[in-house]
Amino acid sequence: RYTGLPFEEVMRLRQEHLTPALLTYYEKPVMLVEGKMQYLFDEKGRRYLDGFGGIVTVSCGHSHPGILAAAHDQLDTLVHATTIYPNQEVAFYGKALADKMPGDLSVCYFVNSGSEANDLALLMARLHTGNYDLIALRNCYHGGSQSTMGMTAHGTWKFNTPQGFGIHHALNPDPYRGPFAGHDDPATAYANDVKELIQFATPGRIAGYIAESIQGVGGAVVFPEGYLAKTYDIVRAHGGLCIADEVQAGFGRTGSHYWGFESEGVQPDIVVMAKGIGNGFPLAAVVTTPEIAASLTSHIHFNTYGGNPLASRIGRAVIEAIDNDGLQANSAQVGSHLKDKLIGLADKHSLIGQVRGKGLMLGIDLVTDRTTKAPATAECAAVWNKAKDLGLLVGKGGLAGNVIRLKPPMCLTMEDADFMVAVLDEALTQI
Ligand code: PMP
Repeated sequence: RYTGLPFEEVMRLRQEHLTPALLTYYEKPVMLVEGKMQYLFDEKGRRYLDGFGGIVTVSCGHSHPGILAAAHDQLDTLVHATTIYPNQEVAFYGKALADKMPGDLSVCYFVNSGSEANDLALLMARLHTGNYDLIALRNCYHGGSQSTMGMTAHGTWKFNTPQGFGIHHALNPDPYRGPFAGHDDPATAYANDVKELIQFATPGRIAGYIAESIQGVGGAVVFPEGYLAKTYDIVRAHGGLCIADEVQAGFGRTGSHYWGFESEGVQPDIVVMAKGIGNGFPLAAVVTTPEIAASLTSHIHFNTYGGNPLASRIGRAVIEAIDNDGLQANSAQVGSHLKDKLIGLADKHSLIGQVRGKGLMLGIDLVTDRTTKAPATAECAAVWNKAKDLGLLVGKGGLAGNVIRLKPPMCLTMEDADFMVAVLDEALTQI
């Protein structure tokens, strides 16, 4: 039924008018023309199971009926006016989001992308503490703007420009690949590295520390139990604020909790959200305490689209959909079924080095040798391309590009999970 531009014409126009650095992802790119919940369709009407959710963004499902109805209603009423004019939608949304936050995290700032949100979090931490230095982790991704490119610690995303002045990267607390893999107390060992970094690289007082609750782009790395709690104590002892980047792990995806940091037993000072917050609509947020928010009142802070009526109505509809559809519980249930079956696949395929993650945020670390853990980069690309040919879209991540990332819309069913496992089994067998 697709009557739009043919694939070749779309590719020609992209090549002519869009950045030459634009990724097309697959060897033979897939053109997507329609989405319905966890499924996507190409121009020929071929169906794919979406195992990557537009990079962990389509949290509730493509064209989710409840979110669409709210969006249509708001489109008919008022799309945009900016927050200089009071409107009920941003007020409702601020309350709905704050109601999901633990403790005194009750003040919301709405922006349009994860990079913008992390820029703002950094500004807040610096203004509030009066300190400058920020600690981030190696293998993290926090954005591609000038300041967030500095926070990001994957050389692949860094251009040769001055960036991230005052940002220092601690050892990545990776239980599988990190230098303290196999250590009897990796949480303390990695937290101590943060302490040493503060002592060696900063004046001793810092603005803050930022970490994802589970690393996304880095390949679904889950930190050793207790690491974040120990690190937060160290950061606070040096005057810093703790920033949780929940861009990928938030909104119920990890299954056991609404926020990824909750399963680590920590309470951040600033929480950054994007992607899943809008189910595909460009929306992002920073939530903090009234005390920290007060530090931003000395000058005007304004964002044209941030918190506009349409964005706010959609954001609230996403929160409602996650609750009404039971998506957090579904992530827990389907995610643990999927993870168990993937672990089972490791018995058959020696290429699988580790299956990790929580809920519907999973990664399969592929290795050419289980002892050396040498990354199976080429094999990962082959599995990932083959899965697409078999009707499953998945992501790829990790510094070496050897981790298959599974982060589907949270409406994934048990049958979909079984299909994923069957496709990956077949792809691993074929390559
Ligand atoms: N933080 C994390 C954890 C991310 O994964 C991303 C995007 N991959 C960002 C921030 C930046 O978001 P955006 O692309 O919307 O700027």
